[in-house]
Amino acid sequence: MDPEQERRRLAGRLAAIDFALPGSLGRRDNVCGKPGCRCKADPPHLHGPYYLWTRKVDGKTVTRMLSEDQVVRYQPWFDNAAALRDIVRKLQALSVSALEQAEGWRDSASPR
Ligand SMILES: [Zn+2]
Repeated sequence: MDPEQERRRLAGRLAAIDFALPGSLGRRDNVCGKPGCRCKADPPHLHGPYYLWTRKVDGKTVTRMLSEDQVVRYQPWFDNAAALRDIVRKLQALSVSALEQAEGWRDSASPR
C-alpha cells in the first residue's frame, strides 16, 4: 500500500478513537484467610472473580477493583486503548520505512 494512503487510514482511525483507559484489566480468583473456608476445600471453591484495574500513576502502581457491571461498561475503553497502541505501533513502523525510503537507507536496512 502507498505509505501516504496508509498514513491517512491510520490518522482516520486515530481521529475516531473514543475514551481510552491506561493500564490493564486483570481477573483474579482469591483465597481468603478464614480457616475452613470453601476456598480451602478440595477441590477449592475460590472467591471471585475480582476484576482489577492496574495502572501507573507517577511511577507507582495503582490498583482498583471493578464490579462486573463496571467491567461491562468500561471494557470498550480498554479495547480502545489497545487499538490506540496498535495505531501508534503501525504509524511508527510506517514512519521508519518512510524515512528509510526517503534517505535511501532501504538497502542497508535489516530484512523485515
Ligand atoms: Zn475463603
